[in-house]
Amino acid sequence: MSESLATVSYIGATILFILSLGGLSSPATSRRGNLYGMIGMALAVLATVFGPRVTAAGIPWIIGAMVVGGSVGFYAARTVQMTQMPELVALMHSLVGLAAVLVGYASYIDTSIQLAGAEKAIHEVEVYIGILIGAVTLSGSLIAFGKLSGKIGGKPLLLPGRHFLNLIGLLVVIWFGKVFLGAHSVDAGMMPLIVMTVIALLFGIHMVMAIGGADMPVVVSMLNSYSGWAAAATGFMLNNDLLIVTGALVGSSGAILSYIMCQAMNRNFISVIAGGFGGGAPAKKVGAGETAEPQGEVVPVNAIETAELLREAKSVIIVPGYGMAVAQAQHTVFEITKHLREKGVNVRFGIHPVAGRMPGHMNVLLAEAKVPYDIVMEMDEINEDFPDTDVTMVIGANDIVNPSAQDDPGSPIAGMPVLEVWKAKTSIVMKRSMASGYAGVDNPLFYKENNRMLFGDAKKMLDEVLVALKS
Ligand code: NDP
Repeated sequence: MSESLATVSYIGATILFILSLGGLSSPATSRRGNLYGMIGMALAVLATVFGPRVTAAGIPWIIGAMVVGGSVGFYAARTVQMTQMPELVALMHSLVGLAAVLVGYASYIDTSIQLAGAEKAIHEVEVYIGILIGAVTLSGSLIAFGKLSGKIGGKPLLLPGRHFLNLIGLLVVIWFGKVFLGAHSVDAGMMPLIVMTVIALLFGIHMVMAIGGADMPVVVSMLNSYSGWAAAATGFMLNNDLLIVTGALVGSSGAILSYIMCQAMNRNFISVIAGGFGGGAPAKKVGAGETAEPQGEVVPVNAIETAELLREAKSVIIVPGYGMAVAQAQHTVFEITKHLREKGVNVRFGIHPVAGRMPGHMNVLLAEAKVPYDIVMEMDEINEDFPDTDVTMVIGANDIVNPSAQDDPGSPIAGMPVLEVWKAKTSIVMKRSMASGYAGVDNPLFYKENNRMLFGDAKKMLDEVLVALKS
């Protein structure tokens, strides 16, 4: 493939990536967005593999690596559960970081790159910054993977003087950057490069370890952004324009998403990065999935009583959460919605921005079950409507409907906006037990007078509710 054809293909791929991001901004156009992204990526890979920079001798190596990588990716995509997606994404981000580190070292020791003067200095700055971002992304994403998969506890690690430690780390990295740029040989430059890599790896670990469970959504989107900047840095080191543009698109869209997540959770972005949020008062905190001391009476109901409440309602708001994803109950939710709407009930959905375990998790599940988009509302659009609602059905959600975010300033989720389901005439919470959610905080909603608990697996209970509704 000639240089100009490769360039045209790269421009085409860039346009497709931008269209893809645009498509992903709404559920109605997201399938098309994905398709644009896939075509763009196929074009980018073909233009790179068969482009002017790859020699014929290199092609079998690249194809071999693509077969191995593609098989692992194919296997993972086929076997991973939807609820494990965030862990998989975190693991993939770590690979982008690892690639940036390896490319950085390779291009530093590559003797075929003969540069001098300003060009040499620019290349070395690219290498240093590329490895720095890559190493932070690598270790931070691995810790995020551990936390999201439950292999590492969600409790924040708050080292004494942690902000001071971060500052010292930053100063040492800047100092060794100066030493690295002043080195006259590859051997002399290696030592500062390795020291900086170790500090960057430690910083990535410290940064994510210091973040509490409830603030993990911000970390996930932030590491997404980092992986983009790591890819852009790799593009600079390899002199590949498409990788720079693609990395910048991922980096900036991830940064915007992190900002949106911070706003949704009422958090200061810098404070989340610096760590220490999500810890809260130990007296109120229980481990994720554990049960705290009872705070009063709960009123259990069965499926028939739930169907009765729904049948009598004029307006219903359904609030799905992580448990709906675990139970894969979205199709039954759709059936119930359809049935109630046919009977003239106004049914709508209230979606919290951090419901589930990844941004947009609930929207994806509801779209898969063919729930009409126009009845799926964002938290801000629907929160004022709860007082005029007869029944709210909370399906496998917990943290996102926890009133202690508003009432208890010492709570780890204090200040996080929540869906005010308790303001409806009756709220029904469907879950298997009294266990806490991801943030490990007890939920006073369960003990409210107008709240009912429907205990059991969400799919099983909703199937029973549907049968009762139809009978
Ligand atoms: P939560 O984790 O707060 O609660 C989920 C509830 O679902 C649990 O209390 C559990 O209770 C119940 N559950 C689990 N399995 C089932 C089942 N089979 N049937 C019925 N219920 C079930 O989820 P939310 O969606 O309310 O909140 C999301 C949390 O995840 C927030 O803390 C958020 O910060 C965090 N997070 C979000 C990310 C994102 O990007 N969206 C990323 C990382 C973290 P029980 O065991 O009793 O059944």
